[in-house]
Amino acid sequence: MSEAATQARRDELARGLAAVRSRLDDAARACGREPSDVGLLTVTKFFPASDAVLLYELGCRAFGESREQEAHTKIEQFREAVPDPTVQWHMIGRLQRNKARSVSRWAHTVHSVDSARLAGALAAGATAALAAGDRAEPLRVLLQVSLDGDPQRGGVPADGLDVLADEVAAADGLELAGLMGVPPLGADLDESFETLAELGVQLRQRHPAARELSAGMSGDLEHAVRHGSTCVRVGTGVLGPRPLA
Ligand SMILES: *Cc1c(COP(=O)(O)O)cnc(C)c1O
Repeated sequence: MSEAATQARRDELARGLAAVRSRLDDAARACGREPSDVGLLTVTKFFPASDAVLLYELGCRAFGESREQEAHTKIEQFREAVPDPTVQWHMIGRLQRNKARSVSRWAHTVHSVDSARLAGALAAGATAALAAGDRAEPLRVLLQVSLDGDPQRGGVPADGLDVLADEVAAADGLELAGLMGVPPLGADLDESFETLAELGVQLRQRHPAARELSAGMSGDLEHAVRHGSTCVRVGTGVLGPRPLA
């Protein structure tokens, strides 16, 4: 990219980031929460590593990706430009078991764990990565809850949550960190996020440290913050419309 193009993109990203931060601040204040209690995960999927570098320069330290192969390549490019080991990469998309090993090397947190088989594969990968020195901390795991009970769309049904949570909590290499949920298409947003929040309360009766609630995206973050989100995953609101793959 030319210097002018880079500067123009930097300005665009700075505007997007400021707009989202201001929405988050307003949403938090409107319900009496501290803006700093809601983390912003910038979702860079479909966008190049150069955008993540610009976002880093603008203060972002956590990025979300949804496909293993794309993430893997992007992170390598990013690390050549930004050798900061504190930057977090989060896996937020549906994950096949055969990608678990690779993801467990680079991911700080996986938001989309919805089966014991996937959790087992991640535990094996994370344990190996810890032993090899490829990672220093256990892999944080959020359980993705199905908010409409339709397992085709990903997520563990609410009635399977306890068993899966216990398995993840007991697994070597994993740290049970909380829940993630996406409201079903056409669902009432407040109802969906309220359900997720209630499941979070139930989860913490058995696992008090699992405090993360990954909820809210560009279109619905105000609703999610109102219902206790601790991490919003925002792509288009910061980076603009996604380029076609
Ligand atoms: C792509 C994606 C996002 C970001 O969505 P935007 O509408 O662009 O903010 C958030 N969460 C998940 C699981 C995603 O796949």
